[in-house]
Amino acid sequence: MRKLLSLEKSIKIFVSTGIALALYVGGTEISEARYLNYGSPNSTIAVDYSLNTTWTTAVNSGRSAWNNSTAPVKVNKSSSSNNKLYAANYSDSWYGVFTPQTVSGSRLTKFQIRLNARTINRDSTNFQHFVQSTSAHEFGHAFWLADNPNTNSVSLMKHNRSRQSIRLPQGYDICLLQYRSADLCNRKMQSPALILIRA
Ligand SMILES: [Zn+2]
Repeated sequence: MRKLLSLEKSIKIFVSTGIALALYVGGTEISEARYLNYGSPNSTIAVDYSLNTTWTTAVNSGRSAWNNSTAPVKVNKSSSSNNKLYAANYSDSWYGVFTPQTVSGSRLTKFQIRLNARTINRDSTNFQHFVQSTSAHEFGHAFWLADNPNTNSVSLMKHNRSRQSIRLPQGYDICLLQYRSADLCNRKMQSPALILIRA
């Protein structure tokens, strides 16, 4: 009897899952991490960096990428900030890395960003564009955005993006910050016709 009940339960779950999957036909994935489990509790963050003019200009453009977007966040430069950004020749293969340093619960209050001059100089055709994309991506982590969001939409947070052309937060990234809901953003980024069918 117990077994039968659990079998029945399994079938019900299977059927309802099937319906859920059917609702998403042609759409994107159902659930995958788009958010980190920590992030800045404030919509404005400040970062301290002391770099040469070329690097400063490029990192400033990474801040502007957010500040001039419609995302509800700001990135300031401040020498009094605990958050540090460095650019140096690292032997690692990455272009940039974001390291949370003080996290209490989900509240991120101190982080470090490192940009790899070695790999960036080696692989960029346009240095300024490449650094803008890389630094803007790293700032995105401070705003809870995770790497490689599982979406068909273009995203600044994807590692396989072109760092020469995808340099600004994209519609999907901005939606995630505006609505704090990956499911809603997945629906919004799909065609209006699909949304109507699913409404
Ligand atoms: Zn990343």
